[in-house]
Amino acid sequence: MNGDKFFEPVSGAKSPRFAGVPSFMRLPAMDFDHDRIDDVQIGLIGVPWDGGTTNRPGARHGPRQLRDLSTMIRATHPVSYISPFKMTNCADLGDCPVNPADLNDTLDRVTNFYSELKSRGIVPMTAGGDHLVSLPVLRGLASDGPVGMIHFDAHTDLFDSYFDGFKFTHGTPFRRAIEEGLLDPKRVVQIGIRGTMYDGEDIEWGRSQGVTIITMDEFADHTIGEVMQQARQTVGDAPTYVSFDIDCIDPAFAPGTGTPEIGGFTTREAQLLVRRLEGLNLIGADMVEVSPPFDESGNTAWVGVSIMFELLCMLAVSVDSR
Ligand code: MN
Ligand code: MN
Repeated sequence: MNGDKFFEPVSGAKSPRFAGVPSFMRLPAMDFDHDRIDDVQIGLIGVPWDGGTTNRPGARHGPRQLRDLSTMIRATHPVSYISPFKMTNCADLGDCPVNPADLNDTLDRVTNFYSELKSRGIVPMTAGGDHLVSLPVLRGLASDGPVGMIHFDAHTDLFDSYFDGFKFTHGTPFRRAIEEGLLDPKRVVQIGIRGTMYDGEDIEWGRSQGVTIITMDEFADHTIGEVMQQARQTVGDAPTYVSFDIDCIDPAFAPGTGTPEIGGFTTREAQLLVRRLEGLNLIGADMVEVSPPFDESGNTAWVGVSIMFELLCMLAVSVDSR
């Protein structure tokens, strides 16, 4: 408990949660020039970019909608009583620079931003953006050597290429990350995989590299505790990233995403899965693929920020234990 009041969110008991300029979780908003930036331990960041999307776009609008709905989140976890804002200094660091007209330029801008976060010792909680965003995030965070990853998704995102050899889409980030030595495939676990396939080459390649792929049917044959025990053993105590694609959740709960697949996690299962990350050595997390134009009720973004709070609790426990 650091007790630094500056970094605590504005309480809904003092000012109603629908009032004011929205920041993530009603935290102080700042950039790298702010005079308290050196005290930030966890940064909440938007990456408003969907240039890796191969099908239905719109995730570039995710950060603004997630930021808005995140003002509904209170400060203390209902089960663990974890209060990430009391354990660590959290701040909204705004949106990462992007270029909606240039994919490669965006990858460089995001990499540079996350390299700066790493050099400052700030652990990022990212709101995407499509899933290609995770590649430059990992380029920034894993510059010292490969990290592990627990990845919740309906898709492996281990495809080699799209459109006759194009290597950078939201279906390819983790193939590139393994090839570039950013991820140790033997410490990567993917949970929730399902849906119709192109041909299954992504799954075969991943397993040949040592990636642990837990399909939705395999998930259904085990308890959540068993699945997460396997995931925890696979990543071990070394640095681990968490990537959460909202399409791992069933479209009944989270329809506002580009590539929905039926037969997914309930929101309840997603909460229980994320809560079992507690105690891992976490270097960052992301929530990607929320697409507000396909989210007519706003419920997908609400699911997204609710899981972001669960992830933030897990990051805070990890940061606080260092
Ligand atoms: Mn994905
Ligand atoms: Mn997906």
